[in-house]
Order: sequence, then structure tokens, then C-alpha cells
Amino acid sequence: MSSEAAVAPLLEVVHVQKTYFMEGVVVRALRGVSLKIMPGEFVAIMGASGSGKSTLMNILGCLDRPTKGQYLIEGSDVSGFDKNQLAEVRNRKIGFVFQGFNLLSRTSALENVELPMIYAGVSASERLQRATEALASVGLAGREQHHPNQLSGGQQQRVAIARSLVNRPPLILADEPTGNLDSRSSVEIMGIFQELNRKGITIVLITHEADIAAFAGRQILVRDGLVVSDLHNEHSQNAAAVLAKMPKLVDAEPDDEPSAQETGGRS
Ligand code: ADP
Ligand code: MG
Repeated sequence: MSSEAAVAPLLEVVHVQKTYFMEGVVVRALRGVSLKIMPGEFVAIMGASGSGKSTLMNILGCLDRPTKGQYLIEGSDVSGFDKNQLAEVRNRKIGFVFQGFNLLSRTSALENVELPMIYAGVSASERLQRATEALASVGLAGREQHHPNQLSGGQQQRVAIARSLVNRPPLILADEPTGNLDSRSSVEIMGIFQELNRKGITIVLITHEADIAAFAGRQILVRDGLVVSDLHNEHSQNAAAVLAKMPKLVDAEPDDEPSAQETGGRS
């Protein structure tokens, strides 16, 4: 009991407000959000469209700064950091996964995964090794040279997850990562996040879908720029178990040969 109290939060948001001013219109996207996220948590941030989820994600991800309030990562207040300092924190602490995958289309899976390490100054040989390992860890061994248009949506998102891992961040932030995926691929992606979480990586996942939030251990509901509930999810779903009960699609498993459907007509 007492040892738990000694663990410091990974993230701490204190009375954060974010106000957008545009052409005379004031939008109060966040109106005073406070929350703590501990190392090793798997948190879903939920809310309807326009509730402020992406705004919150941008602040948590050091992509933007609060208008008011503090944001601390591992105890250090980053809310006054300038662009370069925020970029430095992002590179070291945070892996990003987005709804649209955000892969470079004319670039192989391997090169996409290597990219964050180029910014971090990792040597070429180590980049190759870490990128190859990261792709294998998300079930994409053998697909290193595929370009995004030769991969299914679920596979592209796995490349993006591999890319988020290579600088070994303690935190992964995912904004609607299953928003463009079919239901089986969505559960597969949630399975990967659960596996990474078991290895100790903190996951913060933004979604408006309750059946996706069901895989998280904690659910925070945002409405009109405020946290309206924050609950431990006692009945969190196990993605591997859910997957075992789902019908299998034609969509290739990582070890299969690419099907004609996947490669045909695209050269
Ligand atoms: P969600 O991700 O939950 O859909 P957002 O955080 O994107 O919500 O948006 C919250 C509110 O802030 C919305 O009213 C949206 O129109 C507004 N908003 C978001 N980004 C901007 C921006 N860059 N400039 C002005 N208003 C914005
Ligand atoms: Mg959004």
C-alpha cells in the first residue's frame, strides 16, 4: 500500500485550459482539465466529436502548449517549454500513433520505422537493427521492403506502432488509432497495445468508440472541454481472447505470402 504512494506520475495535467482565438471567435476547447497518469497505465480518453480529445492529445504529446495551467512529464513542467525543447521531449519520451497512420507513401516500411531514429541521431547500423526488431515485434517480419500501398490498413498501423517504439519511449499516445480500420484489425491493434502495456509502456489512447475503450484499464470521459468521469475499468477486455472468437478474414496474417489481392495491380 505505502509503496504505491511513492511512485510518481508519468504525466500530470493541472488545471489546463486551451483557448483557440480565430477571427474574433473564441473556442474554449479545454476548460480546466486535471489528471494524473501513472507509469504502466493503459488509459482510454473518450468523448464525442468536438469534446476536446485531440486538443488534449496535442498537449499531452507536447505538440501544443496549454493557454493556462501546467503539464508535467516525469515531474518536470514542460508547459513553458519552447518549440525546440518540446521537440526534444517528444523525441525522447513519446511515441505517436495516428488515425491516418501518417506513413511516408514512397518509402518502405523499414525506412518509415527508421525515421524517428534519424532525428534522434542513432547510427545507421543501429537504426537498421532496431527498425527490423520493431517490425518483427508487431508481426511484420518479412514486410520490411513493402511500401504502405502494399500493406493493409491494419499492417500500416502496425508499421506506425513499430515507428512509435524505436526511440524506446515510456509513453505511447494514440489518437483514434483504429478509426480507419475494420473490426478485426482494430482488435489486433488493441492486442499489440495490450502486449506493449504488459511490457511496461504506458498507453494513452484517444477514441470515441466504447468497444475500443473497453480494452483499456482506465476510462476518462471528456465533454465540452472538461473531464466528466474517470474510472478504473474492472472488466477490461483481453484483445487476444476477443480475437480468438472473431471470424477470420481473407486479410493476410503476417507470416502468409502476400495475396494476389494485396499486391495485384500496384507496381
Ligand atoms: P475532438 O478531438 O474531441 O473531436 P478537438 O480537440 O479537435 O475535439 O476540438 C475541440 C474544439 O476545439 C472544437 O470545438 C474544435 O472546433 C475546436 N478546435 C480544435 N482545434 C482548433 C484550432 N486549431 N483552431 C480553432 N478551433 C479549434
Ligand atoms: Mg479528434
